[in-house]
Amino acid sequence: VRIGQGVDAHRFSADETRPLWIGLTKVDSSPGLDGHSDADVLAHALGDALLGAAGLGDLGQHFPPSEEWRAASGETILQRIVHMVAVAGFRPISADTTVVAERPRLAALTSTMSERLSDVLGAPVSVKCTSTDGLGALGRGEGIAANAVVLLEETT
Ligand SMILES: [Zn+2]
Repeated sequence: VRIGQGVDAHRFSADETRPLWIGLTKVDSSPGLDGHSDADVLAHALGDALLGAAGLGDLGQHFPPSEEWRAASGETILQRIVHMVAVAGFRPISADTTVVAERPRLAALTSTMSERLSDVLGAPVSVKCTSTDGLGALGRGEGIAANAVVLLEETT
C-alpha cells in the first residue's frame, strides 16, 4: 500500500466569463479560476496525490503549460493519471480531499464532486470544504486551494 498527497491553488480569473470548475463539476459562480487548463483545483490536487503515491513525480512535470494541455479538462488530466498509475502497477483504494474557499459556498456540491471523482478513480473519493476564517489570500477570496490524500495498492 502506498500513500500520496497533493496540493494545488489557483487565483480567480480577471475574466468574468471564465467558468468555474471544481471536482469535475461546473460551479454556478463567476469568475472561474485562472490557469492554462480549466484550472480544476481539486482534480489537480487529487491527480498530484495519485502521481506522488505511485512515485511518478508531480502534475507540472506531466502536464506542462504546452499547447497539448491548453484548456484541458480536469477529467482528461485525471483519467490520464489514473491510466499512468495503472500502468505503474497500482490501483486506488480511496482518497480524501478538502477544498479551501472563502467563496463561493460549495457545501451543496460536495456530493456531486465526490461521485464524479469516484467514477474516474474507481474508488471512493470524499470531498470536504472549508474556509480559512478570513485569513490570508484564500481568506480574502483571491483564489481557491485544494488538498488531497490517496491510498494505492499494488496490483501485481
Ligand atoms: Zn492546478
